[in-house]
Amino acid sequence: MLGSMMQQPLLISSLLTHAERHHGEQEVVSRRVEGDLHRTTYKHLAARARRMANALERLGVRFGQRVGTLAWNGYRHMELYYAASGSGAVLHTLNPRLHPDQVVWIADHAEDEVLFFDLSFLPLVEAIAGRTKTIKAFIAMTDRSRMPASSAVPNLLCYEDLLEAESDRFEWPVFDENTASSLCYTSGTTGHPKGALYSHRSTLLHTFASALPDALNWSARDVILPVVPMFHVNAWGLPYAACMVGAKLVFPGPFLDGKSLHDLFEAEGVTVSAGVPTVWQGLLAHVEANNLRFRTMRRTIIGGSACPPAMVQAFQDRYDVQVLHAWGMTELSPLGTVCTLKAHQLGLPPGQRLAIQAKQGRAVFGIDMKIVDDEGRELPHDGKQSGELLVRGPWVIREYFRGEGGDPLVNGWFPTGDVATIDADGFMQITDRSKDVIKSGGEWIGSIDLENIAMAHPSVAMAACIAAHHPKWDERPLLVVVKKPGAELTRSDLIAFYEGKIARWWTPDDVVFVDAIPLGATGKMQKNKLREQFREHRLP
Ligand code: ADP
Repeated sequence: MLGSMMQQPLLISSLLTHAERHHGEQEVVSRRVEGDLHRTTYKHLAARARRMANALERLGVRFGQRVGTLAWNGYRHMELYYAASGSGAVLHTLNPRLHPDQVVWIADHAEDEVLFFDLSFLPLVEAIAGRTKTIKAFIAMTDRSRMPASSAVPNLLCYEDLLEAESDRFEWPVFDENTASSLCYTSGTTGHPKGALYSHRSTLLHTFASALPDALNWSARDVILPVVPMFHVNAWGLPYAACMVGAKLVFPGPFLDGKSLHDLFEAEGVTVSAGVPTVWQGLLAHVEANNLRFRTMRRTIIGGSACPPAMVQAFQDRYDVQVLHAWGMTELSPLGTVCTLKAHQLGLPPGQRLAIQAKQGRAVFGIDMKIVDDEGRELPHDGKQSGELLVRGPWVIREYFRGEGGDPLVNGWFPTGDVATIDADGFMQITDRSKDVIKSGGEWIGSIDLENIAMAHPSVAMAACIAAHHPKWDERPLLVVVKKPGAELTRSDLIAFYEGKIARWWTPDDVVFVDAIPLGATGKMQKNKLREQFREHRLP
């Protein structure tokens, strides 16, 4: 017997319709590429998204076809999120920090029909325009007065002109909730990038789950500033969640330095933000150097790379900003775990609570996870034994776009490539990525632990730990460090700093100081580049 409740497909357009109807006056504020601050509301944004849906139709974009974007976080990008997916096309967010050759490769692989771009990416668009195979029109996300006077880009159109020509009457079509909604390529540190193709259903379920109090805890009382880019895994789902709960949104555009962010936090009364650790480092440095506070910010979500405990401490103890450490992947839409304490942990001494917060957290409802050994046998949740992390759930990838790379699943589970422990309370902790693991004399050394300790040293700005070749042990840890400006720090100081903090045999064999550590397109340290750079490094 079937239940007798309404059968309404879970569609992305319903999020915007809800925000318009029930939170119509709520603000969406954007720092534009041009530098000025733009203010709108859900009501106006929804009307413009409908105009854009009409414009897409006029441009010839059909159901299921891909709409590419090269854009920062801003209201026009948000309009495209809803106009493209809502009308049944597929929003394809391209990462503008990639090399032009990679952008061309990805746009061709995705068969993008049209490409929308922020003016700051005009040089990139000029570099790729003659080379992509399927893009029929390039649309600059600006108004007529700011359109480039002359450009080598063929079929260059103006976003605001397109909108102006259309009516804001558009009925969001109703279709199968399993229809593809958006596409995002993994950064592909090895080989070609692969696409994760999300559906309306997976996106809506992810949005519900991410909003839960023990997950990211969004509400209508929040003012959310997503630092995480909308071109990276849908800004962790924030443009959807904000509509679901009716939160005020503040978009920083391209201005992600500490001062610009802090100014915007203060001016707009931001209560919660989200981004990768490298961004927060810039913010903390600015706030510390200028003796500033956070007037309204009470929470920040940190993920994408391990959040060093020193950063958790700085935010919580000095600035009264609670850190939520979270873990996810492009293949998981992206949310997998969030680190919020359980009731019995609240009374623990600060040091023990901090140790829990260094973990990536508990599975949100919808995500099932387990760790396995090299033979695929499940390992106990004892917080000690580590193995490869496998996940499954309704917003976890089943296969990559166009079936690239074959079937990624192992008995119905997605292998994450991360190595982790899970403790008795269900807290997962990433100890490494399988390709970053350091194997010394057959035993694993967790590079993240070693980085976290280095990051707690007051003179260290950034630290990466990689495997260096060792004649006897095969691999030993080598620490690559960027010092804080003006700081004095020697190799032996830093090695001594590890004493008593870890098993002695984990202590890095050597430290090299560099001016900068290469960061990838999503702000993560590129350890593969470092490994290459230090391949010939001779350990003392
Ligand atoms: P890509 O895989 O393309 O670099 P993703 O954002 O999909 O980009 O990266 C997912 C990976 O990032 C995870 O598999 C994990 O290795 C790492 N990661 C994400 N969040 C965390 C975190 N909180 N701590 C440690 N590693 C993390």
